[in-house]
Amino acid sequence: MKTITALLITLTVSIVCFAQTMPKDADPVLWQRALRIQKRAIVIDGHNDITSPMVDEDLDLASSTRGKFHKDGDPFHTDISRLKDGGVTAEFFAIYVSGSTLKTGGAMRRAMDLIDATYREAERHPKDLSMCTTAADIRRAKKQGKICALMGIEGGYAIENSLYALRDFYRLGVRYMTLTHNVSHDWADAHGDVPKNNGLSDFGKEVVREMNRLGMFVDISHVSEKVMNDVLDVSTAPIIASHSSARALNDHTRNVSDAVLRRVAKNGGVIMVNFYPSFLDGRTNKEENERAARLKPQIDALRAKFKDDPEGFAAAQRKLFADNPIYVTPYTRIVDHIDHIRDVAGIDHVGIGSDFDGVPFLPAGMNGVEDLPLVTYEMLRRGYTEAQIRKVLGENFLRAMTQMEKVAGNRQISGQGSLKKLKK
Ligand SMILES: [Zn+2]
Repeated sequence: MKTITALLITLTVSIVCFAQTMPKDADPVLWQRALRIQKRAIVIDGHNDITSPMVDEDLDLASSTRGKFHKDGDPFHTDISRLKDGGVTAEFFAIYVSGSTLKTGGAMRRAMDLIDATYREAERHPKDLSMCTTAADIRRAKKQGKICALMGIEGGYAIENSLYALRDFYRLGVRYMTLTHNVSHDWADAHGDVPKNNGLSDFGKEVVREMNRLGMFVDISHVSEKVMNDVLDVSTAPIIASHSSARALNDHTRNVSDAVLRRVAKNGGVIMVNFYPSFLDGRTNKEENERAARLKPQIDALRAKFKDDPEGFAAAQRKLFADNPIYVTPYTRIVDHIDHIRDVAGIDHVGIGSDFDGVPFLPAGMNGVEDLPLVTYEMLRRGYTEAQIRKVLGENFLRAMTQMEKVAGNRQISGQGSLKKLKK
């Protein structure tokens, strides 16, 4: 009987271990050490887009998404068991609002739907998930063995130019706001888009001040470099880039330049490295763009053929991409970016912001959130100490959040209103 129990335990342990992808040619001792650190550490991921399918595809995070695909054909990266395997303490659920709402309207409604979906998921699975809004909440959840659900708005136009709405979003628990997505709008300019405000408008600066006063991180992911600098001029609290990598390693407008990295270090903020291969590596980015251009006629034909069958289209497109592979940068490239930010800004100003479920593919060797220990393993392999690794995984973010909360506590109530009143 004892032997059977021992066998069962071994079997269970090995199943648990195999839930993550072990690195190729891994040093088994170092790998086990990485898994132990992952378990002990507070692990905070700055950005996860699983929230959108929670609304659009009725996804319940308790059901397994391993090996499954989104309606658009991209593989899923997240569910509760995968979050556990990844050792995640706190996940930021992206309240992502598309820039198309600037034309169609409905930005705030979309944000409200996503916020409710996040709360409902936590209500459905109280043993696993817990809504969190403070650094203390995150530390408490770690002790309770629960995963914190936090929320960050992606696309500042979700407040529809109203500081009243911004304050309501704060009350609902939103703790960061990415000032733009990919389009410039009334008060802030986006990366890679035509500027409308020469950075941040006067109202945009009011938004930043009000976020400081409330205790909501200003997130510089997706904004233009000018906005990054304007934010750093105005903000009295630490800021974050919830999901951006280093521009020196790949000159992409979504990444952060060394000059801004140095300013974020002075500001006390954190740059949370994005895992999307096309942001991490110029070669992947180039080959992805070239493939998209080359296969456009075929993709258009497939779209016409599967007009009423989105899943059929997604599967056919997946096959087309599989038949036309590109160079996909390995997961170790994530740690190249961590190394670089450490070298320029310091070890206290780097974190992780995966962008899981917001990107079409992940670095080679990585399947989803369960594979976060790969990053820990690679840092160990490069000689990072456990204390340094824990800073990157979550302690840096917690330090910045605690400071951000302190700045908020010092501020008086203000009476600002909406853009209409302030602009003219
Ligand atoms: Zn994004």
